[in-house]
Amino acid sequence: QRRGVVSMSVQKTSKKASLAAEKLLHEFREASATPLPLLHQVSDAMVHEMYAGLSSDGGSDQLKMLPTYVENLPSGKEKGLFYAVDLGGTNFRVLRVQLGGKTGEILSQEFKEVAIPPELMVGTGKDLFDFIAGTLASFVDTEDDSLKSHSGEVRESGFAFSFPVRQTSVKSGIVIHWTKGFKVDDAVGKDIVKQFQDAISRSGHQITISALVNDTVGTLAGGRFNFEEETMIGCIIGTGTNACYVERADTVQKWEHPLPKSGEMVINMEWGNFRSPLLPRTFADEIVDRNSVNPGDQWFEKMISGMYLGEIVRHVLARMAEEAKLFGGYVPVKLLEPLTLGTPQVSKMHADTSPDLQVVAKVLKDVYGVETTTLEERKIVHDVCDIMGERGGRLAAAGLYGILKKIGRTGKAENGSKKKTVIAMDGGLFEHHEPYRTYMESALQELMGSDAAYEVALRLQNDGSGIGAALLAASHSQFT
Ligand code: BGC
Ligand code: MG
Repeated sequence: QRRGVVSMSVQKTSKKASLAAEKLLHEFREASATPLPLLHQVSDAMVHEMYAGLSSDGGSDQLKMLPTYVENLPSGKEKGLFYAVDLGGTNFRVLRVQLGGKTGEILSQEFKEVAIPPELMVGTGKDLFDFIAGTLASFVDTEDDSLKSHSGEVRESGFAFSFPVRQTSVKSGIVIHWTKGFKVDDAVGKDIVKQFQDAISRSGHQITISALVNDTVGTLAGGRFNFEEETMIGCIIGTGTNACYVERADTVQKWEHPLPKSGEMVINMEWGNFRSPLLPRTFADEIVDRNSVNPGDQWFEKMISGMYLGEIVRHVLARMAEEAKLFGGYVPVKLLEPLTLGTPQVSKMHADTSPDLQVVAKVLKDVYGVETTTLEERKIVHDVCDIMGERGGRLAAAGLYGILKKIGRTGKAENGSKKKTVIAMDGGLFEHHEPYRTYMESALQELMGSDAAYEVALRLQNDGSGIGAALLAASHSQFT
């Protein structure tokens, strides 16, 4: 086989080669299929695991169903100067908001985004938290004199930490394990806020962390703040994926404390670890899982979120190029190298609506040096992206439908009147990958059915997690 060699003679796809590629494409399509009955089964399996995870023995090895200690979502009346730190995927942000005290009123808002140096993602807790605390501290130093603090010299901050945490209060919690390529082993099993607070002390600043929240919870809080009373779910589809929702506290059997006054408790599902055998996994999912830092875990996440999409598509294309001469026998060396195809490139190719698929051609050329391709080849590449986007969007919808079922917001309308449910969404894949979003929305409508009792809206709650963390710091303020 010729690898990495371009020559005109091998660039022409023979009829036979394209048939072989079509055959692989067909197999891949079948293996990834998500017909409506399967989606219903997947959502039922999700509901089943939700009950198991809430039971007194916490009996699900898939869904952690973590009580967040958030019993009240923002009312809209929050007031004062608050910071937030948002550590989740590859970027991390620090924000500052001045809340006005009236519904949805944000008087001013600034943020700074910093890439996490890759070595810190797999280093020690001390190094990671010193970096984060240092960034927060220097951001606090840029505060404008005109901003009014409600807390004297001390600054108050929320902390959106987007990994599984067993919370011990609204502002403390133990890291269970890492996801999304992070692996900071010595931080596991310890209170994450204490580690952060210690690093802040080392920086010499006075900053108090008043709320520790998962990014989904921040997103839900942000949705409520904008005065959508019917916002019941927060969901992220970005580098990773997860959802949280407002549960009736008395159904959380494993909750060992007095029931909250509100009667409600936000539950962080950690749905990324959903691992039903019903999930339509392919050979590419298996390779991606095996090569990840957490093999065997986070199947749902690995199938639907942004961190893995590029890799899955790359594995499929590599196999097509090698086994079915997708590019006329030319196998770009780089196509065999991990992490060479980013999810943004997959999004771009998927969104290509030009009749001759010029965007696909350009990505293949720029990234893999495939100089010429036939329209037929480009269609195959486009189809691979489409199959993956469709599967991801539809499975995410099945997960959401499971939650809606669990909280009794499915079923048929009586006397034609519809009620409303809002799902606050955030995450780069949902925000920037339009075909994915469209698949997700239409699958959710299909699942709800035409005469559903509830109208469900997916609302982008931009920067949801950071602002939500600041809002929850405000509603749990130590000073006001
Ligand atoms: C984490 C969740 C998080 C999600 C979205 C997952 O990998 O386990 O805690 O909410 O990513 O950022
Ligand atoms: Mg975000």
